[in-house]
Amino acid sequence: MTNPRQTAAVEAELRAEIIRLNKVVQALMNRAERSTSLQSSDFNQFQTAVLLQELVRQRTQELEAALIENKKVNQALREAEQKFHSVLDQSLVGITMTIDNRFHYANPKFAEILGYSVDEILGLGPLDIAPESDRAFIGEVTHRGLAGAFKQITYSVNAIRKDGATITVEISGNEPVNIGGKPALIAVWVDITERLRIQREVQALQEQLQDQAIHDPLTGLYNRLFLNESLEREFALAQRHGYAISAVMTDLDHFKTVNDRHGHLAGDAALRHFAGIMKQHSRASDINCRYGGEEFFLVLPDTTAEIALQRAEELRLALAAEPVKWRADLIPITASFGVATFPLHGVSSTDLIDAADIALYAAKTSGRNQVKLYNRDTTAKTQ
Ligand code: GH3
Ligand code: MG
Ligand code: MG
Repeated sequence: MTNPRQTAAVEAELRAEIIRLNKVVQALMNRAERSTSLQSSDFNQFQTAVLLQELVRQRTQELEAALIENKKVNQALREAEQKFHSVLDQSLVGITMTIDNRFHYANPKFAEILGYSVDEILGLGPLDIAPESDRAFIGEVTHRGLAGAFKQITYSVNAIRKDGATITVEISGNEPVNIGGKPALIAVWVDITERLRIQREVQALQEQLQDQAIHDPLTGLYNRLFLNESLEREFALAQRHGYAISAVMTDLDHFKTVNDRHGHLAGDAALRHFAGIMKQHSRASDINCRYGGEEFFLVLPDTTAEIALQRAEELRLALAAEPVKWRADLIPITASFGVATFPLHGVSSTDLIDAADIALYAAKTSGRNQVKLYNRDTTAKTQ
């Protein structure tokens, strides 16, 4: 590509040639005049002078046309440069050219991202605006970039603004270009601090929503949706690995009376109270769920019926021993428990739920506040 310096040199050369030609013509004319007295006739001299003048006129015309063309090229170059600068100046992304680890060029947006003026930033280099933790990485990327290890690279790092604030920038760079015999790295910088903050907020919100979707808001236990999903998963695992899986279904006794006597809020406190006991007695693999109103469901993976009965008995005793504290009152609460086990009492998750429900019903009809294991002779629920 032609640059302004080259076109100026061409113009100077063209002007020098016009002057040189004029001098040559003048010299020839002088010589022709001096030799008038010698052999040449007036007519020959006249002819030579006219020919030379014509030659000079033609060449001068050509050179002038070349000069005009050169001016046009110069003008076009200046305009292109202006356009190029206004694009860089108004760019919404930061643009830098780094030579010898110094910002050799920086557009206004880059200075704005870092909180410096363009002049200030030109005294700095990529390592000066990097936090200690990112310097080794930036040094490595620069080194590899200069060695031509990649054609294009995009990466994110932290940067320290003039005011000390840490921001995160996404940098896109290309292989080096040659500027005055030195390798220069051109990079595009985008401040992604705000984008990351919003992304984190959205992610936290999504996690919160996912969490809410599988939890019961009153007790904090898992809800039925999660129970159904996890029971299927646990069943698949138990079948594959050949281990038992037990379930304990719980229903608070005479809960309606608690609500009637102490109010609905006291009933809520009682539900939270029992949920607290479940959590307190929980093991890592247990899945504690609120099944419905005052019904709870505990999944015990890799647990035999015998152990499940013990676990249910633990819960029963703990509840019976600890009345619910509600304002000035102490409300005694008990619950009935039905226990069932796979593969003993069924072959599917719904079988297990049904069997635990039937065992619970047996505990209710046997006088409440007790634990019953499923027994296939127990009549199905009729109420
Ligand atoms: P049983 O010993 O036979 O189980 O008797 P019960 O009174 O516990 O049984 P019932 O099914 O008649 O009553 C359940 C009550 O649970 C009825 C309903 O008002 C109450 N309940 C369900 N969900 C909630 C809740 O979220 N908060 C409160 N406070 N009460 C609830
Ligand atoms: Mg009930
Ligand atoms: Mg009940």
